[in-house]
Amino acid sequence: MIRLGNVLVSPGEGGVYGERMLEGYRVWDPYRSKFAAYYLLGGGLDLTPGMRVLYLGAANGTTVSHVADYVETVYAVEFAPRPMQDLLEVARRRKNIVPIMADANRPDAYAPFMEAVDLVYQDVAQPNQVEIAEKNLVFLKPGGHLVLMLKTRSVDVRRDPADVVAEARAGLEQHLDVVEVRWLEPYHHDHAAIVCSRRG
Ligand code: SAM
Repeated sequence: MIRLGNVLVSPGEGGVYGERMLEGYRVWDPYRSKFAAYYLLGGGLDLTPGMRVLYLGAANGTTVSHVADYVETVYAVEFAPRPMQDLLEVARRRKNIVPIMADANRPDAYAPFMEAVDLVYQDVAQPNQVEIAEKNLVFLKPGGHLVLMLKTRSVDVRRDPADVVAEARAGLEQHLDVVEVRWLEPYHHDHAAIVCSRRG
């Protein structure tokens, strides 16, 4: 990952969503993107040029566009019509983003457009976040990674966030090895990045 001093950047053309440019790089803002927060807080999972990524919860393509600056292909799944319009515009200007309008609960619907991926990245803010991630493991290569951005308040606003993360972790450990759990404070409250790898 490229940093200029304390600033995380990505190496694409600017003007995607009004982001700042620094020395010809796009500034990747940790307050707008949980993935940027993860990296600035010391997250260890690198994005590399040959990677194929399934991105669940693409929204308007802000984070998707930065991921696409680093990897080969991003399959970007979003089910809400309004952000999908912005995502389509982002994808139109890049060759390596495949926008997919679909419900991430139903991977069968987009399986025909998919290939096996090195990384499943999920940021859907739903009560059944772990279940959605599990359903999408069908696309993950052995040795590949899952990054689940867990919004604990979406699972249960009344429960202790640490308990929600522990429960999610235990569920994921039935299928995957958990390699890292990282809280995203101070950038995103009550969010944790859970990084897992698929046994080879
Ligand atoms: N990842 C985005 C970023 O960093 O720019 C922000 C994602 S936002 C927190 C969550 C998004 O997930 C919303 O756009 C929402 O419509 C989408 N979403 C929620 N549930 C979904 C589902 N089951 N299938 C597809 N998209 C979903």
